[in-house]
Amino acid sequence: MDFVPSAKELSHFPFLKKAQDHIKDIFPPLDILLKEERGKIITDLALKRINQALSSKRTVIAHFQHRDDDEIASFVLSRIIASCIPDKQLFDRLTRYEAERAYYFLVSEIGTEDGEKGWNENTLLDDDGYSQISKYLATEFGINITDERMPLPDYVEIISPLHDARFKLVNRNVHHGFIEIKKEERYELLRERIRVILRRDLPYKVPKSLCEQLAPVAEPIKKVYQEQMLQQFGTVEESAFPPCMQALILALTAGTNLTHAGRFALTTFIHTIGMDVTGIAQLYARSPDFDAEKTMYQVEHITGRGGSGTEYTAPACAAMKTTGLCIHPDAVCAKVNHPLSYYKIKKKEKINRK
Ligand code: SF4
Repeated sequence: MDFVPSAKELSHFPFLKKAQDHIKDIFPPLDILLKEERGKIITDLALKRINQALSSKRTVIAHFQHRDDDEIASFVLSRIIASCIPDKQLFDRLTRYEAERAYYFLVSEIGTEDGEKGWNENTLLDDDGYSQISKYLATEFGINITDERMPLPDYVEIISPLHDARFKLVNRNVHHGFIEIKKEERYELLRERIRVILRRDLPYKVPKSLCEQLAPVAEPIKKVYQEQMLQQFGTVEESAFPPCMQALILALTAGTNLTHAGRFALTTFIHTIGMDVTGIAQLYARSPDFDAEKTMYQVEHITGRGGSGTEYTAPACAAMKTTGLCIHPDAVCAKVNHPLSYYKIKKKEKINRK
């Protein structure tokens, strides 16, 4: 493909390899750039990206008034700042936002039939109505956007986190290992692929000195994010726990020795919803064979305070099923694919009832 994307196209899809190459020779090393006026503009744009990612409104704002190069650099810088924080859910939000942003630009490239202008109005379209940048982008992400079918393994990998029933395998036509894909679904699948690949690359290995330099902008984000998490989960409400977590607590209280997978699932879950290390240890103290020292060691390790710095995430329902920990799923379970989503729904219901 000898198509060369324009700077504007690259700025709308700044994760493309070509976009990264494009800015490589333009800017000085980051530690120097950050001290310059242009570095401040790029930092502001990077913060806007993160704040939009954290915002519940999820609007995509294109910063057309800025230079395309700054826009691309702000994408990279936002990921560097997030890597300095670092928090898995922040990475999830940021990558979801970037994927949604790319989707927005894919679907708004050409004008609409009711006269609304697209941002890439003069682009060349092929006979099926695909632009060169959309095909270029899809190819880089391993999707043949013009094909009406997708190999089953690729499809399964892309749709696994999607809740929408129309993507479930039982609702699809499968022929000889391929899934039929409707035209209007192709950008959605591309969006998911972008999200997964962007998430896979985070966190970056950022030098400590650079994180220290970025601390004045990273710290306020951390604060806002933590406040949001607390608002979302609020005080720990055990009665809103999903059946799997209730079962683990019940087993613990009854004196059953939890398996490693069980302890891991319960600890990561209650840590994420805001229980501190002491609270978690107190929960384990309900177990008749409670060993304070051993428990604190395990809990601190899982919650990232025990030297390794790795903060683990609670397993999703699919993993819980594999390890035999999905116990007595109820009607709410049918709507979620993560115990945390269950908790959020139930907690909201309880607040609304008050
Ligand atoms: S479906 Fe998910 S939330 Fe429900 S019990 Fe199973 S693992 Fe827990």
